[in-house]
Amino acid sequence: MRAKAKSTQHYRRLRELAALAASDRRRQLRRTNEAVEALERVSSGSYGVCRECSRRIPAARLRAKPEATRCLECQLEHERNRAA
Ligand SMILES: [Zn+2]
Repeated sequence: MRAKAKSTQHYRRLRELAALAASDRRRQLRRTNEAVEALERVSSGSYGVCRECSRRIPAARLRAKPEATRCLECQLEHERNRAA
């Protein structure tokens, strides 16, 4: 009984670790895709241009988030719309 309880705990812990690893992999994959897409925008000449308003994304924002596709104002608006 005690051994079964322990193995159940271990199983639960392993499931938690697997879920964390999967979430980490998804985050890494998303960041990799964002970086590749940013490099493609560099190649096509559209890097640093906001996809919503077509204005230049300020250099400070690109330094902080080089893969940004929107200026800060458009990004905040985008997130507000997604949350709604
Ligand atoms: Zn914008």
